[in-house]
Amino acid sequence: MTDDVRMRGFARRQTVDQALAWLDAHLAPLPAEQVGLAAAAGRVLAAAVQSGVDVPGFDRATMDGYAVVADSTEGATPYNSLPLDVVGEALPGRPFDGSLARGQAVRIMTGAPIPRGCDAVLPAELASDEVRALAAVSPGKHVGRRGEDIARGTMVLPIGRRLRPQDLGVLSSIGVSEVAAIRRPRVRLIVTGNELLPAGSVPHGSCIADANGPMLAALVERDGGLVDFPGIVRDETEPLLAALRAPADLAIVSGGSSVGVEDLAPSLVARHGELAVHGIAMRPSSPTGLGRIEGRLVFLLPGNPVSCLCAYDFFAGRAVRALGGLARDWPYPRRRGRLARKLSSQIGRLDYARVRLVDGEVEPLAIAGASVLSSTTRADGFVVVPADSEGFAAGADVDVWLYA
Ligand code: AMP
Ligand code: MG
Repeated sequence: MTDDVRMRGFARRQTVDQALAWLDAHLAPLPAEQVGLAAAAGRVLAAAVQSGVDVPGFDRATMDGYAVVADSTEGATPYNSLPLDVVGEALPGRPFDGSLARGQAVRIMTGAPIPRGCDAVLPAELASDEVRALAAVSPGKHVGRRGEDIARGTMVLPIGRRLRPQDLGVLSSIGVSEVAAIRRPRVRLIVTGNELLPAGSVPHGSCIADANGPMLAALVERDGGLVDFPGIVRDETEPLLAALRAPADLAIVSGGSSVGVEDLAPSLVARHGELAVHGIAMRPSSPTGLGRIEGRLVFLLPGNPVSCLCAYDFFAGRAVRALGGLARDWPYPRRRGRLARKLSSQIGRLDYARVRLVDGEVEPLAIAGASVLSSTTRADGFVVVPADSEGFAAGADVDVWLYA
């Protein structure tokens, strides 16, 4: 598609499914790199991790008390206490070096290795001060067996796992100091618009502050990407082309994706690369483009903030996650709910409708305009009306994707 569509409008829109099919055919995880534990939180495993050791590596006490031969406590009760001959002490990291016989005991603390000959721990509260057993313990009682947490050879974490803080603890406990992680995609954010002031500026005159830059940066971070945002780019050919050509794993352009005179990105991508999709049958975000330039994916997202968010959700986010080895699907939790009012749509067009949850019911937000960014903040999530549907009647059960 090399036609310049500026000021002619979209002759024909592709369906969301067609756009996704093209996209999915161009997605594959990036190569792996070795990452030290200290930097591994949130990273995606490129290979499963197996344990080369048993955890714990020795039988250990799980209570403070006395390590004993269980047999020698048989029949002990508070009225028939049995004497124990305490012959030493075992502490975590400082084992008792000797073997015990019936009637002998070693004072032991939680985490200390069980001395040879012992097979149970009599908890301190079941022993009297002069050290007599006030109760019987059965073999194995209060003993953590070698390998009971993680047995050597067990697969501890699967490929594709996004490492959680506790995963790092487990990795450390099996002696792993670095892991193979999928490289994080470097995502170049190209925020265009001559009317834009840097994010956080107080708007003045006909200038507006950049809303999409900070929003997209946070979305990319959430999806595991590394943001490269060199600042707002003017709606001019040279700076835009330079930004599109700058090194990155993928590029996201905000603004100028449609058919206006200042919408340069689609024709630049078509001329210097491939503009595979331009114009998609959806609302909002119909002026979205997908393509490639110098081998990397380029997403042309409409400048209207709601369209920008929706197009990120449908296309760019999917790619960021896939390149980084994460599941392609939305990271949003899904909830089923009853529609409080009807939600109408047009056959042939997919709708991304922002909704609120009110008393467990799903309320479509009245303001549907693509430029009303605050509609996404007031919304708890969105409902997707598929292209082949005219919408949902009041009272229908729908899936809500919750912004998180
Ligand atoms: P465009 O897609 O460039 O035609 O922009 C569509 C509308 O979105 C216009 O009203 C722009 O001013 C507005 N817009 C474009 N980029 C941004 C942005 N980064 N932040 C907030 N609004 C924007
Ligand atoms: Mg613009």
